[in-house]
Amino acid sequence: MKITVEQIPEQELKPKFQDASQLGFGRIFTDRMFTMRYINNAWTEPKIEKYKKFNLDPSACVFHYSQEIFEGMKAYAAEDGRILLFRPEQNVRRMNKSAERLVMPTIPEEDMLQAITELVLAEKEWLPRAAGTSLYIRPTMIATEAFLGVHPSTEYTFFIILSPVGAYYKEGFKPVKLYVEDTFVRAAVGGVGDIKTGGNYAASLMAGYRAQQKGFSQVLWLDAKERKYVEEVGAMNMFFVFGNKLVTPALTGSILPGITRASVLELAKYLGLEAEERAISIDEVIEGISSGSITEAFGSGTAAVISPVGSLTYKEKEYVINGNQVGNVTQQLYDTLVNIQYGRQADPFGWVREIGKI
Ligand SMILES: *Cc1c(COP(=O)(O)O)cnc(C)c1O
Repeated sequence: MKITVEQIPEQELKPKFQDASQLGFGRIFTDRMFTMRYINNAWTEPKIEKYKKFNLDPSACVFHYSQEIFEGMKAYAAEDGRILLFRPEQNVRRMNKSAERLVMPTIPEEDMLQAITELVLAEKEWLPRAAGTSLYIRPTMIATEAFLGVHPSTEYTFFIILSPVGAYYKEGFKPVKLYVEDTFVRAAVGGVGDIKTGGNYAASLMAGYRAQQKGFSQVLWLDAKERKYVEEVGAMNMFFVFGNKLVTPALTGSILPGITRASVLELAKYLGLEAEERAISIDEVIEGISSGSITEAFGSGTAAVISPVGSLTYKEKEYVINGNQVGNVTQQLYDTLVNIQYGRQADPFGWVREIGKI
């Protein structure tokens, strides 16, 4: 694919962030974005252009029927100046799976990887280098055809934007409190819970909002049919640690197949832990926490990598895990994954891809 690169006059470039340790998440965007349009059954005009507002028809399909998909991944600066991506081919593959489910056009994997790579390299001055920081990458596809009526759009825009993000754990690795949601559900089997589409998040907002008002960081979702089995957390998959064994809910079709989740499963086995994917009921979890057989719990996702869970509140009762402290297994998995992502430790899995140098 030949990507056109638009020149931006020096005086139009944004001021760069001054202090990488003050970066939050997803508020600052870089100078450039990648865009490509789908018209007449083909992707056209791949380009790296100035980050700017879109001009869309108010009847564009995405506004009314949510035909939209996205991905979330990061570029990391290694101490020796290498620019690293973590399993980017997995994001690209998942993006195409999401596209297929919403009857959107796929993009050749090598083209999407090329677009990501060239954009990150064009914006490498925006890659923060302070500990724990990274450049968040958000590939997105929206349906742009102007019509009201429920059928797949014939026109799309695929774009990639970049956001320098701060360290997730500024004040250290701290366990979160989760609220076990037993009224609202996130996704049902047969729906779209297993792909990254904005509608899943819209559907989750009410439960998240209510939980936050009660002082919880996030919601732990149960299955839509019986409210009996654990599914996942906001934008993280869920793991329970039983001594030397990890248990995570099996991918039933309503759970997002996280790349961090898959990596934790592989890494656990490599570190000599057992790892099981199976149905786990909330009753088993509560019993396990109460009896002490569940020794730790954590969530996994690109943003936080690993997020220790300090307690679950279910039917008005709080169940504290591991004295609300970060456990050894959680810490070891976090340290190993992060060290691999930042190129500080050998990568026996071939997960890390070097795309260039700072
Ligand atoms: C993105 C996401 C995850 C985590 O996936 P990763 O590939 O590990 O970042 C988990 N759950 C939901 C609902 C998500 O959207």
